[in-house]
Amino acid sequence: MTREDTGEQLRFTTGFLWMCQGYYDHDKPFQPRWEGMDEFRGQVVHPQHWPEDLDYSGKRVVVIGSGATAATLVPAIAADAKHVTMLQRSPTFFISRPKVAELAATLRALEIPDEWTHEIMRRASFVQGEEIHRMSKEQPDALRAFLIDSMRPLLPEGFDIDKHFNPTYRPWQQRLAAVPEGDLFTALREGNASVVTDTIERFTPTGIRLASGEELEADIVVTATGFDLSVFGNVAFTVDGAPVDFTQQVTYRGLMITGVPNMAYVFGYFRASWTLRADLVSQFVCRLLAKMDDQGTPVVVPQLRPEDADMPLLDWSDPENFNPGYVMRSQHRMYKRGDREPWTHHKEYAEERTLLPTADLDDGLVYS
Ligand SMILES: Cc1cc2nc3c(=O)[nH]c(=O)nc-3n(C[C@H](O)[C@H](O)[C@H](O)COP(=O)(O)OP(=O)(O)OC[C@H]3O[C@@H](n4cnc5c(N)ncnc54)[C@H](O)[C@@H]3O)c2cc1C
Repeated sequence: MTREDTGEQLRFTTGFLWMCQGYYDHDKPFQPRWEGMDEFRGQVVHPQHWPEDLDYSGKRVVVIGSGATAATLVPAIAADAKHVTMLQRSPTFFISRPKVAELAATLRALEIPDEWTHEIMRRASFVQGEEIHRMSKEQPDALRAFLIDSMRPLLPEGFDIDKHFNPTYRPWQQRLAAVPEGDLFTALREGNASVVTDTIERFTPTGIRLASGEELEADIVVTATGFDLSVFGNVAFTVDGAPVDFTQQVTYRGLMITGVPNMAYVFGYFRASWTLRADLVSQFVCRLLAKMDDQGTPVVVPQLRPEDADMPLLDWSDPENFNPGYVMRSQHRMYKRGDREPWTHHKEYAEERTLLPTADLDDGLVYS
């Protein structure tokens, strides 16, 4: 590897490689190009490379996108900017969440020991998360109605909620974005921010022209258009001198890869806290390393079993389950899943919290 500050070439050796590279390309954001962008006389900024000295006070800002980044940015800059427009091609589901959990405050007031409070809050959070996830599968229409009804009183009178905040996809088929204390809705109510749902036709020297013919004047355009997945930090892997083509390999339980020995990786949950899975993967790797030590086998590699010979190789993420843009546009670069254990990934925490700690370490793993 190259040391960034000195340019020095370094070489490390290890008996076991644990990839904790995250899941998106930290260097290169997803930055679509639109016609006329070069003619725009204002500033175009991607949030992944936010200039520290960006001065948006008193300026007209258009934020393209309506994901978590846009929903965080819009209320954060609305007070100082002249006006902020959240320009989206299609809506996102938002849910207002309190910044302080009432239950935790009550438990603290009762002087319940911190460890208990922590455990109670953790369980309360799972149960709530699992219930929303269950509803998204079994009663998607009821959940949609609940989300829309919860947003309605927080929005300005006459706001077209169906147009701007009612997505075409099922709740949780893409991310459900939490809005702390409904701050996005407050900014809309106070008139410092607005939402436009339309398609960009082109940039003009002074702003953006939309398919509807409307023109949005802007001094600054923030392209909160998201990121691209990175496959193992874009590191070029080789095994015994041969390059590894991850698209031809299969995930072992979403934490190791067929044909790549002594390598584990952390991939968290899409619909729950990332660290819940980081914990489970860490316990799994410790158990695996202990077994390798006990057996005196320093090498472990996931390998399809004879009964997997005709197993269909599935895309990494099933679009019916989870299909946001950043997953769909990078899917072709990702490794595959199988249709059976232990070649699956993207289970929910409710299932994995008992599955991973008890997983058979001889099934699909070969030691030497
Ligand atoms: C917009 C957004 C919102 C999110 N919201 C939530 C949320 O609300 N809750 C939640 O739990 N999770 C959320 N996540 C998921 C989030 O990525 C994880 O929670 C958490 O940041 C993952 O931690 P990590 O240490 O695994 O990876 P990261 O935080 O991504 O860290 C990976 C590190 O590896 C480094 N790295 C990568 N490749 C290389 C390389 N080739 N060489 C050297 N270094 C490399 C990176 O520079 C980085 O420092 C969100 C992610 C995004 C993008």
